[in-house]
Amino acid sequence: MQEAASALDTDVQFLKGVGPRQAVSLKKAGIGTVRDLLHRLPRRYEDRSRIPKISSVRIGEWVTVRGRIVKLDSRPTQRGMVILKAIVQDGSGSITLTWFNQPWIKRALESGSGEVIAYGQVKEAGIHLEIAGPEWEFVGEEDDPEDFARIVPVYPLTDGLFQKTVRRATRSALDKYLAAVQDPLPASILEDQDLEPIRWCLQEIHWPSSESNRLRARKRLVFEEFFYMQVSLAMRRAETHAELGISFPISALLDSTPADPETDDGSPAPHLFVREQVEKREGEALWEQIHRMLPFDLTAAQRRVIGEVWADMERPHPMNRLVQGDVGSGKTAVAACAMRAAVRSGYQAALMAPTELLAEQHSAQLQRLFGPLGITVELLVGKLSAAQKRKAAQRTASGESHIAIGTHALIQEGVEFRNLGLVIVDEQHRFGVLQRKALRDKGLGNPDVLVMTATPIPRTLTMTLYGDLDTSVIDELPPGRRPVKTHWKPTRDRDAVYQGVLSLVREGRQAYVVCPMVSESETMMAQAAEELFGRLSAGVFSDVRVGLLHGQMKPKEKEDVMAAFRAHELDVLVSTTVIEVGVDVPNASMMVIEDANRFGLSQLHQLRGRVGRGHVQSYCVLIADVKSEDSRTRMETMRETGDGFKIAEVDLRLRGPGQMAGTQQSGNSDYEIADLVQDARMLEVAREAAIALIERDPHLSLPENSAILAKVRERRSELAVITVS
Ligand code: ADP
Ligand code: MG
Repeated sequence: MQEAASALDTDVQFLKGVGPRQAVSLKKAGIGTVRDLLHRLPRRYEDRSRIPKISSVRIGEWVTVRGRIVKLDSRPTQRGMVILKAIVQDGSGSITLTWFNQPWIKRALESGSGEVIAYGQVKEAGIHLEIAGPEWEFVGEEDDPEDFARIVPVYPLTDGLFQKTVRRATRSALDKYLAAVQDPLPASILEDQDLEPIRWCLQEIHWPSSESNRLRARKRLVFEEFFYMQVSLAMRRAETHAELGISFPISALLDSTPADPETDDGSPAPHLFVREQVEKREGEALWEQIHRMLPFDLTAAQRRVIGEVWADMERPHPMNRLVQGDVGSGKTAVAACAMRAAVRSGYQAALMAPTELLAEQHSAQLQRLFGPLGITVELLVGKLSAAQKRKAAQRTASGESHIAIGTHALIQEGVEFRNLGLVIVDEQHRFGVLQRKALRDKGLGNPDVLVMTATPIPRTLTMTLYGDLDTSVIDELPPGRRPVKTHWKPTRDRDAVYQGVLSLVREGRQAYVVCPMVSESETMMAQAAEELFGRLSAGVFSDVRVGLLHGQMKPKEKEDVMAAFRAHELDVLVSTTVIEVGVDVPNASMMVIEDANRFGLSQLHQLRGRVGRGHVQSYCVLIADVKSEDSRTRMETMRETGDGFKIAEVDLRLRGPGQMAGTQQSGNSDYEIADLVQDARMLEVAREAAIALIERDPHLSLPENSAILAKVRERRSELAVITVS
């Protein structure tokens, strides 16, 4: 394969029809070899088999027109610009092409053949029609008229590179070198997936013989693009699955209370169990114990996810699972069940939260559950004194503490464990290969890892970003939860909205007011929040207790404000978006989001998640005047649904994957041709095919898969660069 492929490394300057000057501009655009050229795909196509008569084009249409330039006119405008107008006629009518401040176009048009093809959107200009800033090219003497009666590729260009150059170069590359292209996909996959061979696809994607052929070619290229990535993820997943980890005796725990487990070397189990025996009842299975431990019945979704987690824990390989569940879906209970099983099996567990505040909240909740059972929970946070820290660390190292809770720094800080069996990571999306290695390097073995996230993302993104993890979704909220009622009000109704807040406060409820400013600058955000705070506390809320929270405050100040709000020493909290995900103040039952237009959908959803956590009806009011179709869609979506996954899907459609909350890496920029929204179905197909392939050939050692392996390696080395930098 390498032999034949080397012909593709031929320098573009040796292609027929590419002169030295064009070769330089191709290289500037990153196209140095025939291979580069074949992989630089058209940005769009023009169907020139059906170029409309100029007399038939309509305002607003995107069209390709063809005709002769009958008049060129260039003149300065009042604003110091130069406007160039070219009137083009095709016998049926005429249309004006206009350009601003591009003198070289005038020179080019004056020197050319006079017949042009132009593409753009038709606008009304007085009694004429015009296309402003069209893409255009000459129809030259040397052009093959055949080229015009067909679908023509339009390539992405950079300065100094002409459409014609790329087209001609691509043509000769296809003519001369297509035979050198080897298909990296084995025939079996092409057949199973009903895909065309690579040569056919390259030919048809560059110079489609019909729209349906182009789509067929695209189908394969999209599949391929998804496929290599999914194979890479499936391999990584399989590697974790193949590692040796802990096998927790879950089945035994589920059936009945087993004899005290023993440690690996056969010695009696550590004293971890001793306290648990206090509440041990003869024959009581784990589910029953869980049932007695929790103050509520688990939802069906929670039970299913706990089952999936326990099944992973029982396998003798490390768990690597992501649990997705919207805010309030009850992830803590799932975490508690996993920890309970780990501790019952003689191991310790660690829970890591993104902030100290959340670590404390978790710790308080878990102590309530585990305290009565004699399972000890250790909170390891920065504000402990040195002596307290030391003692806590000792208890964790000796095994006296069963569960350690801290921030994500918990493991980096070198806390020791007696026998760590389970790591739960809250709201950190990537607990990857590197962190796993860090655990091993610190002598913490190869514990099971459970990642929990309240950031719902569409399935397509989950498959791309977390494709190497197993995933569970808690897709059900606990019963009796009342959905937050969401209203959308124009700014002129603002006073009435605040009167509404006031009357809720008089009933003993609390409210958040979120300040609209979203800025790169924390300082500007803080200023905006201070202003709003000043206005409200001097005005409509002068008789109630108002607090302020923003990113420029010291950690201690922030903590104090949050504590005061939680203790109901404040009625209204004016804040920027710093209120953390997961902050739980059940009495806060109203949120006003000022100028909600400025927020993305996922962010609005995250913000709203801070109310509706208690038993009373909660409200969210979005104050926004419609600025665009997009903003209308966002407000209406928020009003209509509380389902984070639905909201994430809409967000993905509106903004593309790069911009979505919680996904630091963009999704789409990884793809040249595939589109995560449009090609979602194909992604599923490629994922299934990849998993099946790795099951058949885990190391891609079969000769027929060697080209796939090469592609995966290429991807991985790119990924490695991204991870390191
Ligand atoms: P999150 O998924 O946002 O972390 P939590 O675990 O904090 O959610 O749970 C939110 C609230 O719902 C908590 O007060 C918790 O006690 C309660 N809860 C969780 N599961 C159930 C259930 N099955 N039935 C009733 N309440 C539940
Ligand atoms: Mg939580």
